[in-house]
Amino acid sequence: MSAAIIDGKGFAETLRARVADKVQDFVADAGRQPGLAVVLVGEDPASGVYVRSKGRATEAAGMASFTHRLPADTSQDILLSLVRRLNADPMVDGILVQLPLPQQIDENAVIATIDPNKDVDGFHPVNAGRLASGLDGFVPCTPLGCVMLLKDRLGDLSGKDAVVIGRSNIVGKPMAQLLLAESCTVTIAHSRTRDLPALVRRADIVVAAVGRPEMVKADWIKPGATVIDVGINRVDAGDGKGRLVGDVTFDEVARVAGGITPVPGGVGPMTIAVLLRNTLVAAHRNAGIPLDRDAI
Ligand code: NDP
Repeated sequence: MSAAIIDGKGFAETLRARVADKVQDFVADAGRQPGLAVVLVGEDPASGVYVRSKGRATEAAGMASFTHRLPADTSQDILLSLVRRLNADPMVDGILVQLPLPQQIDENAVIATIDPNKDVDGFHPVNAGRLASGLDGFVPCTPLGCVMLLKDRLGDLSGKDAVVIGRSNIVGKPMAQLLLAESCTVTIAHSRTRDLPALVRRADIVVAAVGRPEMVKADWIKPGATVIDVGINRVDAGDGKGRLVGDVTFDEVARVAGGITPVPGGVGPMTIAVLLRNTLVAAHRNAGIPLDRDAI
């Protein structure tokens, strides 16, 4: 194996510790904790796990965690009125509605109802527009975590050829915007892209955010390229439990790449760490207290 393993887990722990330090300063200045409200609708087991771990991480960072669990048959009106209440609650700095939502609820309507200044997931169209326009706003946690890992490994990203596989609003598109803002030359690939292997072979940076187990193969990768694997896929391991793999065939790609994130332990832990960072930023903004973001 030749690639350096990019230790997202370790990086995320350091980031969480820095956030926790800054939370103490905030509490001293503002006289209250930063607050994150997480809303879960329904019983989806994976979503339940994510919400519990977000709640635990929020409290571990010294922030207040408010979890709202609603039944699967909750109407859109009920959910929207909860979001409006959270928008108006001065103890709540960040609001996160766990996706996916049950089919009777329009996700876009919910996202659009969250106050953009409390939208710590960065999914509101106002924040997506701010990102695309180069303005200050909340950036989705997973792609921001990926860029932090890339800059930590490579330093200046300027001029690098980057291919982002996937164009979702949550990962692919904001990832591409962030890389563009770092002056990469960015190509976004998706299910209609022709000859994806040839496209990926040109890239210095490959970000795979597809949701297809081990799709990206070693002969797609330029020797020495940096590979960020966002995918989380559970595959059959013959033990009834399954195991997690990414969108990249890790063992073989690691022989060609210069650096690669593992799954698990790569991008995944960064998502929650950046969520805490975004919540800390929101708290400072809402309280009118300045924050040196370069220090976290
Ligand atoms: P989506 O399903 O919303 O998007 C998947 C994208 O992959 C789409 O743009 C789709 O193209 C594209 N795609 C599908 N098949 C192919 C193919 N054969 N070739 C090229 N492109 C293809 O997924 P998300 O963006 O939400 O998530 C992607 C992965 O990242 C998932 O595994 C998810 O679990 C994981 N994830 C991990 C997070 C973390 O914290 N680590 C956080 C969020 C997601 P098209 O648009 O044409 O359909």
